[in-house]
Amino acid sequence: MVSATGGAGVWKEECGVSGVLCTDGHAAAPLVHVALYALQHRGQESAGIAAFDGTVMRHHRGMGLVSQIFDEGRVASLAGPAAVGHVRYATMGSARIENAQPFIVPSPWGPVAISHNGNLINAPALRRELEAQGVGFGATTDSEVIAHLIARAPSSTPEEAVAWCMHRLEGAYTVAALVGGRLIGFRDANGIRPMAVGRGPGFWAIASETCAFDHTGAQAVCDVEPGELVVFDGGGMHRRQVLALDRCAHCVFEYIYFARPDSVMRDRNVHQARRRMGRVLAREHPSRADIVIAVPDSGTSAAMGYAERAGLPFEVGLIKNRYIGRTFIQPDQASRDFGVRLKLNPNIDVIAGRRVVLVDDSIVRGTTSGRIVGLLRSTGAREVHVRISSPMIRHACYYGIDTSTRGELVASRLEVEDIRRFIGADSLGYLSQAGLVEAVALPQEALCMACLDGRYPTRVPTEAEAGRTALDELAAVPMGISPP
Ligand code: SF4
Repeated sequence: MVSATGGAGVWKEECGVSGVLCTDGHAAAPLVHVALYALQHRGQESAGIAAFDGTVMRHHRGMGLVSQIFDEGRVASLAGPAAVGHVRYATMGSARIENAQPFIVPSPWGPVAISHNGNLINAPALRRELEAQGVGFGATTDSEVIAHLIARAPSSTPEEAVAWCMHRLEGAYTVAALVGGRLIGFRDANGIRPMAVGRGPGFWAIASETCAFDHTGAQAVCDVEPGELVVFDGGGMHRRQVLALDRCAHCVFEYIYFARPDSVMRDRNVHQARRRMGRVLAREHPSRADIVIAVPDSGTSAAMGYAERAGLPFEVGLIKNRYIGRTFIQPDQASRDFGVRLKLNPNIDVIAGRRVVLVDDSIVRGTTSGRIVGLLRSTGAREVHVRISSPMIRHACYYGIDTSTRGELVASRLEVEDIRRFIGADSLGYLSQAGLVEAVALPQEALCMACLDGRYPTRVPTEAEAGRTALDELAAVPMGISPP
């Protein structure tokens, strides 16, 4: 399938989180609603908002896009100066309404609301432990585990409860939470998934990406640092380093593919980072061609950089139809071919008779790349030279990205020349790992590149812990304990 932001992989987006605390008495939900629109590329399966007015936690969740779930009246009904929101693509727990976020559970400090991005490695063990204490679960995602852990923490304040919870969690987590009327953001010790802090007129905001601030009138202030807990209340922002910095490991695929190009991560504009990837790619893998085109949208910035460095014209060779719903994406082969034709249309005047460099961000299974190359050839391209602005993806991700199993990754089985033949290209070149680090312009030790080199920043989960449905399976196993 061609994913929501482009790309020829079956790389699925993860989730997006957002939170707002209004200090001027205004309602927070309308700002979170706007932020979720900006984060929609991070998940299209479900969305939700929870808002707290000091007494009552109101929330609404649904399946589908933000625009399908919320209207003005629905947002207005979510009263209160504090709110958190979530957009979801399921990486743990199947796609159903019970798994939509934010999750709300009762606690000694009033209702707790949790929006989580990432994947916990030890979620099954934590869930078993909580179930043994009599906790009943309504969903099958690791995010609900976080909510219950905070609610049952042996702590006297919301901050202490969250800090205690952070010590118990293993894996990747970026969380926007409402606890005891405060807005709280926290992040795992490796900082795998992103979270930034913004400040607008009369409000504080946290979000997975800074593009969520731009639409609300907020300015990015800083990141929530790895292992840090940030609390917002009437007195402003309070920061606390809870976990000792383990190894900073920001997901490099945020720069390559996941994040929106107008977001800034660790002071790097994502579009400019992708453009540099394209330039380095052209240096490492030049080609004798007439034009450079992108697989829209996520390949566009890198294709621009490639064209600049190669001295070739950048052309719009593939047009993306933005209005195809997910329902068209069927899992069988014939429908997948149909899906590519529906989503991407070749611009015949640009392609026919030309030697084309096709720039994309990644190859996951290789099947979609092959279909796009075939599409260009059938449109009359004389040659198709595929250039990929990431290194080969050889390993699975356990941190909130649905990469398929390792066996499905074409680069875990085949070398470059075999993949070139498989996708039917005249030539194929991948950005090197050193080239990627140069383009992102962060030290290699500050990045997670585990799906490229197998160097995981945490312990590698067991098979039972790793799957998307690990907690679905656990939920199906009778525990002999009745929920209270
Ligand atoms: S394994 Fe890959 S996709 Fe997963 S967090 Fe690390 S760099 Fe990102």
